[in-house]
Amino acid sequence: MESAKQLYAGKAKSVYEAQDPDHVVIAFRDDTSAFDGAKVEQLERKGAVNNQFNAFIMDRLAGAGIPTHFERRLSARESLCKRLEMIPVECVVRNLAAGSLCRRLGIDEGRELEPPTFELFLKDDERGDPMINESHVETFGWATSEQMARMKELTYQVNEVLRGLFLDGGMLLVDYKLEFGLFRGEVTLGDEFTPDGCRLWDRDTREKMDKDRFRQGLGSVVETYEGVARRLGLELELDD
Ligand code: UDP
Repeated sequence: MESAKQLYAGKAKSVYEAQDPDHVVIAFRDDTSAFDGAKVEQLERKGAVNNQFNAFIMDRLAGAGIPTHFERRLSARESLCKRLEMIPVECVVRNLAAGSLCRRLGIDEGRELEPPTFELFLKDDERGDPMINESHVETFGWATSEQMARMKELTYQVNEVLRGLFLDGGMLLVDYKLEFGLFRGEVTLGDEFTPDGCRLWDRDTREKMDKDRFRQGLGSVVETYEGVARRLGLELELDD
């Protein structure tokens, strides 16, 4: 990987050129950030854990017919993915109230949301990822109305697949954020699905098992992610 050209470095992942122009290599780093990058720490093993967790989830989603960018895992920390033209919009579905929804609307944490809510945020750290709506997406040209409708459909489909998967492991999928891009014109799930971008609570105790452990300084962040993987039956490979 040392020789491959880096295309982009985000807050937790770096993207490198692959051998062919239709693909990229995504490397999951140990960097962990919150509050739009205001809190950053290195958490040992997190990159390897998240890469393997993401591979497991993306495989499940692909198996359910959801188009994803994930091709295959290359090593403990790296995966080969389709090269997408990213849409700068974050799609969030919530099954239980938490985080910004509670802050914004004064809703009690843990309230069940039926039907689950769907929200959009613009990917723009400088502006603190402001909340937007579907008409903004179309008017400002971030995606067409057809692409937007497809993103929404796929985001809800992911809920159908993953809610049951986590429940089987004794966990509640509280909320999650997805990002999409275009591959040969098709709306395709990109980015990652890991405990960094979703909220997971123990079904019985409601203990937090996701990045809120980092945001709220609860400790044992990576150990808890490893516990989530174990509950899903995923055996993690040691880092290389
Ligand atoms: N999320 C994310 N990246 C962001 C913002 C949110 O992955 O830049 C995830 C977050 O982990 C949670 C969901 O999206 O699972 C909803 O986040 P929320 O709007 O509640 O914001 P937060 O409280 O995390 O600031």
